[in-house]
Amino acid sequence: MSTKTANIYIENFVNNILSIRNLYHPSVKMCIPVKAQAYGHGAVRMAVEALAAGVEYLAVATAEEGAELRANNIRCPILLLSIAGKEEIDAVVDNELTSFVHSKEYAVLLAQSAKKQNTRAHVHIKIDTGMGRIGCPPDQTSSLAAFIDSCKELCLDGVCTHLSVSDTLDDSDIQFTQHQIKLFTNAVNSIVSLGIEPGIIHCSNSGAVFLHPDSCFNMIRPGIAAYGYYPNPIIAQYMQSEYPDFTGLKPVMELCSKISQIKTIEKGQPVSYGRTWVSESNTTIATIPMGYADGLHRSFSPGICVSINGKKYPIIGRICMDQCMADLGNDDSINEGDTVIFFGPNSNCLTADDFAAVAKTISYEVLTSIGQRVKRIYV
Ligand SMILES: *Cc1c(COP(=O)(O)O)cnc(C)c1O
Repeated sequence: MSTKTANIYIENFVNNILSIRNLYHPSVKMCIPVKAQAYGHGAVRMAVEALAAGVEYLAVATAEEGAELRANNIRCPILLLSIAGKEEIDAVVDNELTSFVHSKEYAVLLAQSAKKQNTRAHVHIKIDTGMGRIGCPPDQTSSLAAFIDSCKELCLDGVCTHLSVSDTLDDSDIQFTQHQIKLFTNAVNSIVSLGIEPGIIHCSNSGAVFLHPDSCFNMIRPGIAAYGYYPNPIIAQYMQSEYPDFTGLKPVMELCSKISQIKTIEKGQPVSYGRTWVSESNTTIATIPMGYADGLHRSFSPGICVSINGKKYPIIGRICMDQCMADLGNDDSINEGDTVIFFGPNSNCLTADDFAAVAKTISYEVLTSIGQRVKRIYV
């Protein structure tokens, strides 16, 4: 029915989760972030599939995302990867989301809400070891842990930090990550030395999962890798040379549309807004109903190609809000209604990394930008 579709290959998602898991001892838990609609793939379905694949934890970025999972009967621990606003605290506790805690003041808000709701709030201490985003300074970890331990409405389930440059092979980045991990280890030890059980200890995003495997502690949190992309494309070669048995990642999303019109134009005729592209000879143009409002950023053109019946054709001229155009040259084998693949797992089309390279961004942004008009089809 829809001319804008994202086929979601569950088999590839499960393959990615299991091959990542295989890199680790079975006792290491897995937390899969399903924030931002599971990086654009659809939160509820991907959550269900991740749990079926044996994942122990899920993670979200907002209280609303957590509430959506709970409303769909997802019962596993769900980690909230951000600091909730005051107005969200009751929903966090009510939905039994496991909160990051960065300060005593925030711990008090959670404890008050838990008391009011006659329950306990589960928390993980979040330490800022160099990301500079959220978390308590490493030297305040033990006093925060002692405070949480003293609140009977709070239950300390874990301790974590987030790494800012774990996905590069640059020497200074590797050193910085090692420094973050050292600060983190010391902070965890400061909790243990108070006789407080720190719970699950975790810091590995996708970059660290591949490049810093010795620092997994007892849980890993790979996001983008589960959806089939390395956080940095150079890691693909690194994995091939260092772990030849690693089965590799397979993109999960295939972004598709159907040609709405085919026409021939003459040499010198412009196509799309701004007349930025003008035909150099008589040619055939396909109009495709996918535009920047669907997440096909204007910055992808010129540069990207689409795949039609196994062959690649360039997108030309400006991408419009709802449509874009491809130059078919003198290929007359293509018909209106034929399927167009923008990116996906097959070798005859581009990947989200290729799209990202054109727009000077990362696969994360390409995937999470895919709009709500694009129907997700689970295959
Ligand atoms: C999103 C997120 C992750 C996952 O990061 P990837 O680079 O996608 O693996 C892990 N931890 C935190 C705190 C996050 O916000």
